[in-house]
Amino acid sequence: MEYITSFEELEKYLKLTPQEKAWHEETTCVPLKITGYYMALINPEDPDDPLRRQAVPTVSENKDVFMESSDPLAEVSHSPAQRLIHRYGNRVAFLATDICAQYCRHCFRRRFTGNMTGPASDGDVEFACEYLKTHREVREMLFTGGDPLTLSDEHIDRIIGEFRKVSPELVIRICTRFPAVQPDRITDSLVNIFKKYSTAPFYLMTQFNHPRELTAQAIEAVSRFVDRGIPAMNQTVLLRAVNDNADVLEELCNALVFARIKPYYLFQGDLVSGTSGFRVPLAKGLEIEKELRKRLSGLAMPLYAADLPEGGGKVPLCGNYIEGCENGVWKFTTIHGTSRLYPDPQA
Ligand SMILES: *Cc1c(COP(=O)(O)O)cnc(C)c1O
Ligand code: SF4
Repeated sequence: MEYITSFEELEKYLKLTPQEKAWHEETTCVPLKITGYYMALINPEDPDDPLRRQAVPTVSENKDVFMESSDPLAEVSHSPAQRLIHRYGNRVAFLATDICAQYCRHCFRRRFTGNMTGPASDGDVEFACEYLKTHREVREMLFTGGDPLTLSDEHIDRIIGEFRKVSPELVIRICTRFPAVQPDRITDSLVNIFKKYSTAPFYLMTQFNHPRELTAQAIEAVSRFVDRGIPAMNQTVLLRAVNDNADVLEELCNALVFARIKPYYLFQGDLVSGTSGFRVPLAKGLEIEKELRKRLSGLAMPLYAADLPEGGGKVPLCGNYIEGCENGVWKFTTIHGTSRLYPDPQA
C-alpha cells in the first residue's frame, strides 16, 4: 500500500495552496499521511475539495484559539490506564494503537493519535482484562485508537481473544476509518476473526463524512461485515466547507442507509487545539439538523451531538419542539412550525 507522507510526494499530485504550504508539524498536530486510494478520490483541480480538506494539512492547524485544548473531553483524567478510558458507567474505550491508515486533519484525539507509541502492549491488554473482571458494570467496549485495524490480523485475534476470555458477553464496537480510506484492508479473513468470537455481538463503527467517500469499494468493504451479521453504524463529524450543508448531509445519510450503514452520530467539532478551521457555528449546525429532520427518515437521521468541554460528556443537540405545559396539556411545535396540543393522562 502506498502512502503519501511528505510535501514532496504530495506535490506530485496537487498544486499546493499557500495555506497548505505554510503548515508545519507540531506536537499538537497529527502527522501527514494519506493513502494512495484516498488521494485518487481527491479532485486535483479543486483547492477546496471536501476530501482534500480532510486529508491535506493547512496552516490553520498551527493556530490555538480560545478555550481549545489538547484534551477537551478530559479523557486523560477519565483513564484508569493509558489505553483505557472509562467516562460512561457501562462502557469503556480501549485505545488499541495510536496509528491510523490516514490522519484526519480534524482528528479530535490528537493528544494521542499519531504519537507513534504504537500498538497496545500485552501489559496494556492485561490491565484492560483485569479492569473488565473487576468492573462488571461495563457492558460495551469501543475497540478504537488511532485505528485498531492498523494492527495485524494475528494481533487483533489475540487481543479480542483476551477480552472475550474475561468477558464473553461484552459488546464490542470496532471503530475504524479504513472503509473510507483504505477499503481493501477489510478482507474476509479479518471479518472471520471477529466471527470466531461470537458469544456477544460486534458492531462496525465507520466514519464517512462526505458522499464521495462512499465508493463502490467502500460499500463492498462494509458489506463484508454486514453480510456476516455485524451491523454497521456511521459517525460523521460536522466539518466546515466539507459537509456543513443540508444537501450534502442528506445525500450522505441516504447513501449510508442504502449501503446498510445506519447514520448514528453527527458530531459537533470538539474544542481540540488546531481544529478551529473545521468547526461550524452551533446555530448553523442546529439549522442543518432542523432541515435534515424534515427531509430524512428516522432511519437515515443521525443524532447531532456535542461532546462537552472539561469532560462534560455527550449531549444531544436538537431544536426544541416542546413549547410548554399548562394544566396538564402540553403544547408542541411540529417540525413544520405549526402548533399541536397533547394532554397528559388524567389522574
Ligand atoms: C463516545 C464515547 C463512548 C460511547 O458513547 P455512545 O454515546 O454510547 O456512543 C464511550 N466512551 C467514550 C470515552 C466516548 O468518547
Ligand atoms: S481515523 Fe480517527 S483517530 Fe485516526 S486521525 Fe481520523 S479521527 Fe483521528
